[in-house]
Amino acid sequence: MLREHLKQRVSLLKEEGLYRQRALLDSSTGVEVQIDGTLYLSFSSNDYLGLANHPELISAVQQHVAQYGVGAGSSHLVGGHHREHHLLEEELAAWLGLPRALFFSTGYMANIGVINALVGRNDVLFIDKLNHASLNDAAVLSRAKLSRYQHADYDQLEEQLRTETQARYKFIVSDTVFSMDGDIIDIPKLLALCEQYDAYLILDDAHGLGVLGPEGQGCLAHFQLDLTDEKILNRLIYIGTLGKAAGVFGAFVAGASEWIEYFIQRARTYIYTTATPSALAAALRKSIHLMRTETWRRSHLYQLIARLKKGLHRLENGYFLLPSETAVQALIVGGNHAALTLSAHLKKHHLWVPAIRPPTVPKGQARLRISLSAAHRFEDIDRLTQFIRQFHL
Ligand SMILES: *Cc1c(COP(=O)(O)O)cnc(C)c1O
Repeated sequence: MLREHLKQRVSLLKEEGLYRQRALLDSSTGVEVQIDGTLYLSFSSNDYLGLANHPELISAVQQHVAQYGVGAGSSHLVGGHHREHHLLEEELAAWLGLPRALFFSTGYMANIGVINALVGRNDVLFIDKLNHASLNDAAVLSRAKLSRYQHADYDQLEEQLRTETQARYKFIVSDTVFSMDGDIIDIPKLLALCEQYDAYLILDDAHGLGVLGPEGQGCLAHFQLDLTDEKILNRLIYIGTLGKAAGVFGAFVAGASEWIEYFIQRARTYIYTTATPSALAAALRKSIHLMRTETWRRSHLYQLIARLKKGLHRLENGYFLLPSETAVQALIVGGNHAALTLSAHLKKHHLWVPAIRPPTVPKGQARLRISLSAAHRFEDIDRLTQFIRQFHL
């Protein structure tokens, strides 16, 4: 019987240290959280700029809801496209310096919708092996041929592009800042490969947006790309999410207006789903303004990153940080049980740092994923590094 079989599979997960549990949060997200009744200093939120509880975002939602209510009522194409959604799209495009943007309900939905609108059976997707699960799911759903390359291995990618001769269209699909490692992909390099081998580039900047770039515009600004260059606009499809550094919810795709026009017609996860409550669009407009103007949030975050790296340099227990200039800092532990034990040790000292295990990361690379936020203080970092330093199995 299937029920009995599922029960066995779950107990197997427990034996392998792969069982997942949802902790109960009784506070807002942030640096100080109450989980299962206990207070913790948290390093688990993707609210990288500390905006999720910002009073201006809260009041934007309150005012909007008081005037327009809560539910959007229908999908964007059937009467649910509120002026607030529309203004958000215009402000996103202006911020990024790209011609147009289209607001999706989540990053998962955006990736599924965009890739499946563009890509079909006769196309080939070139996929970094560490891409986010939502990009992988989108790729599988597209029925295109999948060509996976080792993480950030540009030579292998080039070899695959060079020898692929049957494809109708070729697409390189990549995270920009890798969600479990924190490293930044070389976008100029990927664009050059697209130009050379007539491919297109689909980027997912979930962890770069808000964190990178002088006004938080993300990875494209980080590499100082000229986004008025038609050569780039011909190749680039840029996806960002708004539930992380932006502190709210949602996602978008941005780029040349031909892409956007086509997605409105053909992206099924845009068309066949209820529009996001427009109050969230109101909060997001506020959030964009804060990301652009409150540059101290990013400067402080960068200082915290530097402090963490210094604090976790050369650990005696053999654990080590992956190289990362972003708010995602991965402390590689190795075994699943070791990662869980370290996470439990920190928890005992009121530090909340999640252990990330396979299949989210490769086997043997279980880790602590330390998420930093502009809301952390220097002494928070010091407390964390001190307890990690003194831990031995
Ligand atoms: C979080 C994340 C997503 C999913 O975005 P949601 O808005 O949470 O659905 C997509 N891609 C990457 C790289 C992510 O980290």
